[in-house]
Amino acid sequence: MSVATIKKNDTVICTRGISAGKTGKVLAVDRTKGRALVEGLNLVKKALRKSQDNPQGGIVDKEASIALANVRPFCPECKRGVRLRRRLDGDRRVRVCSSAGCKHVFDR
Ligand SMILES: [Zn+2]
Repeated sequence: MSVATIKKNDTVICTRGISAGKTGKVLAVDRTKGRALVEGLNLVKKALRKSQDNPQGGIVDKEASIALANVRPFCPECKRGVRLRRRLDGDRRVRVCSSAGCKHVFDR
């Protein structure tokens, strides 16, 4: 399943919800909940209480977690969301774009 292949710092594309079609960088993955926090995706308005940092209080945009099923790894060569395959590179397991003819490697 593609769920296990998304890691922190990956670029993913959102396939569903208000951010569908947008890409962003994965900030955190919660495997037990099957959700990820992605920079700039799935923004919600969050009301802030007045504090020292923010004396006025107010409303800010903040990322809400998004189900891993609704994001895909974004391949910079295919320019779209793809599925990944695992491949042995020497003695290392790397994640590779699964499209025919594309050999983009996601792990450096
Ligand atoms: Zn690709």
